[in-house]
Amino acid sequence: MTVDELSRIANRLRLDVVETVHDAGDGHPGPCMSIADIMAVLFFEEMKLDPANPRWPERDRFVLSKGHACPILYAALARKGYFPLEELKGLRSLGSFLQGHPDMNKIPGVDTVSGSLGNGVAIGLGMAMGCRMQGIENYVYAIVGDGEEEEGIIWEAAMAAAKFKAGNLIVFADLNNHQSGGKVTELSSLYPVADKWNAFHWHVQEIDGHDIAQIQAAIAEAKKVTDKPSLIACKTVKGKNIPYMEDNNAWHKRVPTDEEVEIAREALKDKI
Ligand SMILES: [Mg+2]
Repeated sequence: MTVDELSRIANRLRLDVVETVHDAGDGHPGPCMSIADIMAVLFFEEMKLDPANPRWPERDRFVLSKGHACPILYAALARKGYFPLEELKGLRSLGSFLQGHPDMNKIPGVDTVSGSLGNGVAIGLGMAMGCRMQGIENYVYAIVGDGEEEEGIIWEAAMAAAKFKAGNLIVFADLNNHQSGGKVTELSSLYPVADKWNAFHWHVQEIDGHDIAQIQAAIAEAKKVTDKPSLIACKTVKGKNIPYMEDNNAWHKRVPTDEEVEIAREALKDKI
């Protein structure tokens, strides 16, 4: 797939999020926008998946550690063919399988529950080790937010992953410098993030998380490293490509009005 095609898919997913959160009357749109380009590359090019057989043992695994960004995961799964697009309208509705955080027991294509922040690296490591023990040649991809890297379990898992030389584990850090309560740099001393992962003996790359070609190249590079887990530190913008959401933390959890949905459609109409 070309860079332009993947970029258009990312924007299609962004608009799906705006529309579904609007329909639901609840949800977290801002945190979805910063990972849209990563999601497009993973789900529409990189990952070995079979939507007709969601539990195919040889598949790559995916962990959305920042589980509140699930509207974009649901959009990706629907557009990939795991379930009908119309189901997106059920987001957060009573009786729908698409609730406010992902449920692996109810949603085809979801490999783990998530949303209790900080667990994604440990879950991904468990999957990576389990697959390796079974002789499955695949990759486990996880996306963690920067705010959730304040959780201690992230670093316990980071230590263990290096010890076990989990070369089949590739983690994206979504560095949008926002978390629910404000700017990450004002709430903790997390940054510089890449230095910390280096100190934990991971293979670390720093990229622009909205540059499709850089995302593709970083994954290719990570796959060459077989004796270390990989961290791809992605500089991103919360709310990316939705004009009124960009770098505005008010959109962490907020519902677009009818007019704001139209503004998003207009902003993206030539980019989808
Ligand atoms: Mg963040």
